[in-house]
Amino acid sequence: MLRRCTSDAPDCKKCGAQVAAKRVEIPDVKRDAPSQWLEHPQPPPQAEPDATGGRRPALLRSKVPDSDTELAVRCVLDTAERASTATFIYPGIWLAVTLATHAAASWPWLVWGNVLGLGLLAVVRARYARSLPELLRQHPRRAELGFNALSLLSAAYWGCLTAACMWLAPLQPLAWTMLMVTAGMVAAGNTMLGFNPALRYPYPIAMLAPVVVAEALRPLPAHLLVMALQCVFVAYLARSSQLVHQDYWEGRHARRLAEQQARELELASLTDGLTQVPNRMHFDRQLTHEWARQCRRGGHLSVLLVDLDHFKNINDSFGHPFGDTCLQAVAQALQEACGRSTDFVARYGGEEFVVLLPDTDTRGAERVALQMLAQVRELVLRSEALEVRVTCSIGVATVTPRHDKRAADLVQRADNALYAAKHGGRNRLALADTPSDAHSSTMSS
Ligand code: GH3
Ligand code: MG
Ligand code: MG
Repeated sequence: MLRRCTSDAPDCKKCGAQVAAKRVEIPDVKRDAPSQWLEHPQPPPQAEPDATGGRRPALLRSKVPDSDTELAVRCVLDTAERASTATFIYPGIWLAVTLATHAAASWPWLVWGNVLGLGLLAVVRARYARSLPELLRQHPRRAELGFNALSLLSAAYWGCLTAACMWLAPLQPLAWTMLMVTAGMVAAGNTMLGFNPALRYPYPIAMLAPVVVAEALRPLPAHLLVMALQCVFVAYLARSSQLVHQDYWEGRHARRLAEQQARELELASLTDGLTQVPNRMHFDRQLTHEWARQCRRGGHLSVLLVDLDHFKNINDSFGHPFGDTCLQAVAQALQEACGRSTDFVARYGGEEFVVLLPDTDTRGAERVALQMLAQVRELVLRSEALEVRVTCSIGVATVTPRHDKRAADLVQRADNALYAAKHGGRNRLALADTPSDAHSSTMSS
């Protein structure tokens, strides 16, 4: 029995590790986002196609679409970024309003005590916001709850302060100024935070509820007018927050959908439609990538060119659809003959396949090629009552990539070796000339 892999790679078949088919597919991501996020329209999210079940991921350039959890975390970070502009506004405005209305003279403890209280809360919020990305990474749910609690605490604190001013001095400028400032802050907060489902309604409620209670207990002179204005204001807030929320989430989902479609298109453009293995373009990209990698590492790189023998006869005898089935079966067999996750089988064109074997020297490549010859030869294809067998010829070339060499020459040498294998009688492999050698050697298994 032939040895299939010379590597000590941990995912080698020989060592018992699982190696999945190379077919490139995008798996679904688990939807583990908190239920509050699921109220948004959900295009099916898809994850990084480590598509190959442990094999090297396809060299896709388009971005990985976000999962719902990532979207939720990003929403919290976006909220924190927007809220950061207002963190120190609370103590600042309070100081400005109380100084402008000379309130410090009448209620020094109220004024200075709350400058301190609001200032401390602002510092805690700023520090929490700074460590938020790390906290979200470790405990997303807890970090989000902490952030929301601090935001709502600030809003409620400010609402209570406004209510206290209305209670203490309903006829003085302080109460009216605080009322107007509070209205402005609720409107601004609504625009800044309205896209966050956890703060969208709780934030204005936390700020306005104490004001409404104070007003009910100790009505201002123009009570009815204030009530009417508040009703209009609340309706406006509800509508504007709805628009902010809608715009944000539509934008986020549209971007995710676009990224996902770009990824799927790119994946389709790199996959052979008939055999579902990577296509020539994908191979070229992979070759460039591996060549650069081996230039850095100083390892070997081998290429096998596989061509089915007398395939025209099969098409002519059994028809093209049967020929297509053969190509699919051969692609599968070639993949199964590969032992390492880094081995890469692609359809080169027509009835030719190409195999890229990184970190594989000539002896290793020869073993893989022998294994492929055997796997293809063992295929039994049925056309009605007939059993059809196929064979292939393989050209093998190996190089130690260097920046002053060309990857295309490696493929050319494999092609020359393939030519030699065909001329040697087919159903065999041929090793390419090394650049210094003069001849190819052919061998049948
Ligand atoms: P050789 O052993 O010298 O390689 O002979 P061959 O008949 O395999 O080579 P040739 O180049 O003469 O013919 C290749 C054939 O492969 C011709 C074409 O009918 C067949 N072929 C190429 N692409 C496809 C395909 O996608 N589907 C099918 N069914 N046949 C294909
Ligand atoms: Mg051919
Ligand atoms: Mg052929």
